[in-house]
Amino acid sequence: MPSATGWSEPAQRATPEPAPAAAPTLQGGCLCGAVRYEIPAGALGAIVLCHCSQCRKAQGCAFAANAPVPAADFRLLTGADALRAYASSPGKWRSFCGRCGSPILSHRDGAPEWVRLRIGTLDTPIAARPSAHIHVASKAGWWDIRDELPQYPGLEPGRR
Ligand SMILES: [Zn+2]
Repeated sequence: MPSATGWSEPAQRATPEPAPAAAPTLQGGCLCGAVRYEIPAGALGAIVLCHCSQCRKAQGCAFAANAPVPAADFRLLTGADALRAYASSPGKWRSFCGRCGSPILSHRDGAPEWVRLRIGTLDTPIAARPSAHIHVASKAGWWDIRDELPQYPGLEPGRR
């Protein structure tokens, strides 16, 4: 409040201000531990569950859980020598650990500014949840989708 002598001091806080925290990062890695990476927490884009036949084979599962991350924000901490890449279609690269086989990310030559992280490899807990099922037209017949997320026959709308 203004007073004759100027602005009064605010009431003493019950608890001290916490020290400013470092920007939170998310860390992850492969099964054997050779490949470790980190990204800024804010760099993780919308998680989609991809049911395409390539993702199913690459993961050995009903779908892949992928999220876009700016390539400049993906920092490989260890394992550059272990990472291998397979072109599953022309210009589309799937990078995995050459020792243990964990899929880590994919990227496309046509969109070098993005990688698509396989978020099953994250170790840091995240609050984000999947936003959609994509490529459900090629979904595994043995998997029934039993949630309320949007389902798209191909890519989600707005994919670059
Ligand atoms: Zn590994």
